[in-house]
Amino acid sequence: MVEAEQFERERRAMVERQLRPRGISDERVLEAMLRVPRHEFVHPSQAAFAYDDRPLPIGESETISQPYIVAAMTQAAGIQPGDKVLEVGTGTGYQAAILATLGAKVYTVERNPQLAQAARERLARLGYADIEVICGDGSEGYPAATPYQAIVVTAASPRVPPPLFEQLAEGGRLIIPVGNLQHQELHLIRKIAGRASTRILDACQFVPLVGSQGWPEWPGKGWTQ
Ligand code: SAH
Repeated sequence: MVEAEQFERERRAMVERQLRPRGISDERVLEAMLRVPRHEFVHPSQAAFAYDDRPLPIGESETISQPYIVAAMTQAAGIQPGDKVLEVGTGTGYQAAILATLGAKVYTVERNPQLAQAARERLARLGYADIEVICGDGSEGYPAATPYQAIVVTAASPRVPPPLFEQLAEGGRLIIPVGNLQHQELHLIRKIAGRASTRILDACQFVPLVGSQGWPEWPGKGWTQ
């Protein structure tokens, strides 16, 4: 109980000190960031740092993004209640939980079976019913539930995967970090009359999108670039 209150205070501080001052102004997004218990998504040994202004390791060499980046991507996605949204890169399920809290029906794809299963169990335990976790190569999207009003990619891609743009609804938004393995820029791509209209948001640093439309995998060698 005392602990829950402490985490709530930390969430409030996160919103007031990290998010609002850096331009997150959508009150619905700020409210979702206040509601979702980020400490439940990180490894228990990291819970004390859950609301710090930085990414955290989540095991399997992957990371959960810093709160500001999650909020910035969510704000850019312009989610409305009832939207169908695809996330690529489930990780812990935290970003998916934020999207669902805004009233979206969320399909989220994770390539690592361990992470996918852990996220599925965590989201069920925390009561998120409107999130479907799919294990597979999300660089090809998830054709079974198209079209999507928004697609949020939380891993770094060398380019915009054509299948993801195709799976957007007319007027839909694709948010994706595009660049090399060290540095990327967050792209906001809107589908207007079937064409892409692109705006570059922030510089960012994500773990790689590994898949047929992303980076190749070199088993056992790690990332050499
Ligand atoms: N959004 C997550 C953090 C993402 S970390 C969260 O809120 O916790 C990036 C994730 O993308 C990693 O878990 C990684 O395994 C996954 N990933 C990388 N390439 C992928 C692909 N082609 N399809 C689906 N998931 C992928």
